[in-house]
Amino acid sequence: MATPQFNAARWRLDRVPLAAWGGVALAVLAALIAVATSLQAALLTMLAGAACYWAVREARRFVITPNAEGTAAALGLGELTPLIEALPDPALLIDAEGRIVGSNAAARREMQFEARGQFLTSILRHPDVLEAVQAAVREGETRAVEYETTTQVERHTRCYVAPVNWGQARAAMLVFHDQTARISTERMRADFLANASHELRTPLASLTLLIETLAGPARDSAQDRDRFLAMMQVQADRMRRLIDDLLSLSRIELDEHVPPSDRADLADVAREVIDALAPVATERNVRVRLVAPSNPVTVVGERFQLAQVVQNLIDNASKYTASGGEVVVEVAEGGDREETAAIAGRRWEQASRVAMLTPTAAANLSYAYIRVEDGGPGIQAHFLPRLAERFFRVERELGNERGGTGLGLAIVKHIINRHRGGFLVESQPGRGSAFVAYVESAGEA
Ligand code: ADP
Repeated sequence: MATPQFNAARWRLDRVPLAAWGGVALAVLAALIAVATSLQAALLTMLAGAACYWAVREARRFVITPNAEGTAAALGLGELTPLIEALPDPALLIDAEGRIVGSNAAARREMQFEARGQFLTSILRHPDVLEAVQAAVREGETRAVEYETTTQVERHTRCYVAPVNWGQARAAMLVFHDQTARISTERMRADFLANASHELRTPLASLTLLIETLAGPARDSAQDRDRFLAMMQVQADRMRRLIDDLLSLSRIELDEHVPPSDRADLADVAREVIDALAPVATERNVRVRLVAPSNPVTVVGERFQLAQVVQNLIDNASKYTASGGEVVVEVAEGGDREETAAIAGRRWEQASRVAMLTPTAAANLSYAYIRVEDGGPGIQAHFLPRLAERFFRVERELGNERGGTGLGLAIVKHIINRHRGGFLVESQPGRGSAFVAYVESAGEA
């Protein structure tokens, strides 16, 4: 492929200033006078005119305009601007003197500068980037530099610096990639792994201790043995629950970006879950009552995942309801996003409320909801925003663990997020808590 060449002597007529054209006009006029009168003065004027044109023309070559466009090299590099503009990421073109000779809108917006010809150092001071620019211009090296900035929020950027040879001109091209999202996802994963192993280590440590006690001091006492075995069973169950919940969560996350397209009857799902949980409710001496229309409440959703939502909510509600109490499960059509949240989630005047998930506004979408209400102790307002955080347990914050995994509501939130629905809670200490999940209705709204 032929290398494009820049001709430093190429001048466009419209670039020649008015003064130069004045010089030419003067010279032509003087020549006419000279022919007509043969006066020496006319010849001199002609010469002065030509000299004037030449002087102005030459001066243009050496004048460095503030935006550096006047230099031959910069003019050549300036021709690359349309290419830089086409890049989606912020990009800069820096000449051998360290001046910005090209930039795209993304770079100007991000780095908040306007003029060309500004020195790179006036907008970016990171030494590794500046060194990479020097290396690109002088040695033709390509480098990738990662750096961190903390103005208001922490940001991570990777800057690719590559040499550009355009005719006689040498420059460096800088392309900036924002790495903040990737790094915070990596951090979240690392935190999650650390949390998960910490959560598993606690029951494991208890099990180890119990085994040691059984093998040692409690060896000969049948009564102690039974007691310790029962305790071991509790810890083993806890580990199993944790692993089950962790696996569910990662399975849900795997296809969270693909919304379901199936149809499910939410009332039917609720009925099925209530039946399945009947033995647990009986054991806790809690009545679970379903309030649902007789006709189906059809939603766009995956039946199995919706059942998991309903199960986690009813399980929590019955866990926190005192013996002899009641849990009310209500399934119904709502309306649009705001109407549904209001109908299903704003019933108790003195309750505190938090929306843990809100679907993006979409016109013509109608939702159906499930509200699970208990008469339990309720949750203090300042804990509400943290309920769907992984491993968060109010009891642990208050120092009286009840053995939950703290993953149930996180699972609900992720499933509802996959369904592009909403999830909210209203709670009032002393009165109870109500959790509402709503998803797109598939019925004839
Ligand atoms: P867990 O396995 O601990 O129940 P969840 O994610 O389901 O985990 O719930 C997180 C925390 O939220 C629970 O530990 C509990 O403190 C609180 N919580 C959830 N549901 C209720 C409820 N119905 N009433 C009172 N507190 C609740």
